[in-house]
Amino acid sequence: MRILIAEDDSSIAEALRFALTQVGYAVDAVTDGAAADEALKNQGFGLVILDLGLPRIDGLEVLRRLRRRNAGIPVLILSAREKPEEKVMGLDLGADDYIAKPFSVNELQARVRALLRRGQGGAAPVVTYADLTFDTIGRTASLKGRTLPLSSHETGVLEVLLNRFGRAVSKEQLLEQLYSYDKDVGHNTIEVYVHRVRKKLAGAGVTVRTLYGRGYMIDYVDQ
Ligand code: CA
Repeated sequence: MRILIAEDDSSIAEALRFALTQVGYAVDAVTDGAAADEALKNQGFGLVILDLGLPRIDGLEVLRRLRRRNAGIPVLILSAREKPEEKVMGLDLGADDYIAKPFSVNELQARVRALLRRGQGGAAPVVTYADLTFDTIGRTASLKGRTLPLSSHETGVLEVLLNRFGRAVSKEQLLEQLYSYDKDVGHNTIEVYVHRVRKKLAGAGVTVRTLYGRGYMIDYVDQ
């Protein structure tokens, strides 16, 4: 899941990036409203965290343009505590939720989870394949009822593969889901995470297959 952060205050942007990458989301950050508007036209983000006080084009205008394009992407606005009227305008313009600065990491993570859950239109929160169960809200996996110890990147890999169960996922798709544009992370890193996930899935009745030249696919183990 890719999340766009539009925030001109670099310390807040960094705090957001930290809070979100820690739980396995891929994050892209822009620092002005024009860049946010462009990014939202072209990229497949699952959520945008939008500061309202942005240079060049303010956050409310970015939001107005986004909704005018009928883009249904969930929007979480960041508002200054001393400007409650901004928050109301944002919600009126079609933002889904707001969070006042300063916010706690836990609060932010909870709001993001809730918005993404709503965005899935009530898709099953817990999916089960053979002996593997994945909780898409808590983002935890368990094998025969025992929690699988997965790092945030491993969780991200598993989540992307499970979203396309039985279908190929290219390394580029995994990279795109897991990393920001600007991070210099190569295919080798993805191979390492896939290898670890595959090892941890031993005995689950599902496995990650390598499809030469096409990437990976999670599927049932052949009987
Ligand atoms: Ca600002």
